[in-house]
Amino acid sequence: MSGSDRFGDAELRAVLDSIALPGGGRLGASGRVAGLSIAGGRVSLSIQIAPQEAQAFARIRDQAEAALRALPGVTSVFAVLTAERPAPPKLTPNKPMRTDPLAGIGHVIAVASGKGGVGKSTTTVNLALALRAQGLRVGILDADIYGPSLPTLLGLHGKPGMGQGRKLKPMQAYGLKAMSMGLLVEPETAMVWRGPMVMSAITQMMADVDWGALDVLLVDMPPGTGDAQLALAQGTQLAGAVIVSTPQDLSLIDARRGIAMFRKVDVPILGIIENMAHFICPDCGSSHAIFGQGGAEAEAARLSVPFLGAVPLTMELRAGSDAGQPVTARDPDGPLGRIYQQIARTMMAGLTRSPQAQRPGQP
Ligand code: ADP
Repeated sequence: MSGSDRFGDAELRAVLDSIALPGGGRLGASGRVAGLSIAGGRVSLSIQIAPQEAQAFARIRDQAEAALRALPGVTSVFAVLTAERPAPPKLTPNKPMRTDPLAGIGHVIAVASGKGGVGKSTTTVNLALALRAQGLRVGILDADIYGPSLPTLLGLHGKPGMGQGRKLKPMQAYGLKAMSMGLLVEPETAMVWRGPMVMSAITQMMADVDWGALDVLLVDMPPGTGDAQLALAQGTQLAGAVIVSTPQDLSLIDARRGIAMFRKVDVPILGIIENMAHFICPDCGSSHAIFGQGGAEAEAARLSVPFLGAVPLTMELRAGSDAGQPVTARDPDGPLGRIYQQIARTMMAGLTRSPQAQRPGQP
């Protein structure tokens, strides 16, 4: 616990009461502040606004961040403006919700799964490293706000620094640029955020990070297909989405829901990656197709989406992830690295085939 964590809700709100609102009244007592929390010196909060107030409240948000940052022991403040609507987000095809903060980024690709624990984050990291091994400039945005694991997977330590123009500098690991919600927002706070708040936090995070020029930004999505995921898929300018699934999960409804969600918002599905497809015995190296063979490929064909490849269940992958030394970083041309490189190539080929996947002004 940091010394600053002695500040309670009332004290933080009192600080926010030093800020006058444009229409009269004070921020702390205005009823607009939600999700106010402090942990380890990091404060996060959201400020509820009407969509037309966004411009006026950008200044209020800056003032709130500055006032809270002045408290002794507070090391960072993350305030988001949320224009929350009572109804679930309306389905409009892949419409950007703000000006383009990602101008220097070739393609933003979502890595999604119907449920948690299927290896989505492990796949994101190894796929990013495979793209990197092929000479691309790659970033990862860990938007899995409910269980951010990028810091562990890449062995990231410390906090992101501030660069020019008050933008966050992405962390660097194995030649990748990386930013995780886990570095900015406490998981307990994120857990209670609803769809539009998650969306707002993530688009703001995208805009507030100085990504520089990237060929590909992989977004590790929160698992599932609820409001938060839908809002994200709808609000970010996705060139495409990749679905990670285990063989069991594929035959269930989860992966199909993920595909249906992206289709609803006109995001091209670049394909399915089957993770933990077969088991490789660490002792004898033999392969065991515990859930049968070829099922995922057949299911992908049935759903009319490309099959990008199958990744085995291996001790090496799990151990590498836990140690913050992903297999594809250590050995990009080893047996597993080659599998991820092949998946990366097929995915990129799909991207160039899909006309919707091209961002304006991009090759
Ligand atoms: P998700 O992001 O879907 O929640 P993770 O990537 O965090 O899933 O993976 C969940 C667990 O499974 C982690 O312990 C990870 O190391 C392990 N894991 C993922 N893919 C594999 C694999 N192909 N072989 C072995 N372990 C894996």
